[in-house]
Amino acid sequence: MTMDEQHIDGNGIAGLLGEIAGADMTIVMRRCQSCGDRRALGEHRAYRSAGVVLRCPNCHDVAVVIGMQETRLVAAWHGTYEIQRGT
Ligand SMILES: [Zn+2]
Repeated sequence: MTMDEQHIDGNGIAGLLGEIAGADMTIVMRRCQSCGDRRALGEHRAYRSAGVVLRCPNCHDVAVVIGMQETRLVAAWHGTYEIQRGT
């Protein structure tokens, strides 16, 4: 099975991202550390395994790694994130 067959888009894990950040993360813009592409997290590709890995839709480098443990979620963020502040 290729990665493309397994992936869902970042919107598919909106609830999980929201649980981590306490905000709608799908609209957060991320600039990729590898290719410099600037995309909303919701456009990224999510791959489920033991946890979830979000990958850049352009170069497929790792954007976010989320580990699921019994009582906590552990997230590793790669790249630069622009989070809109409430007005
Ligand atoms: Zn990239």
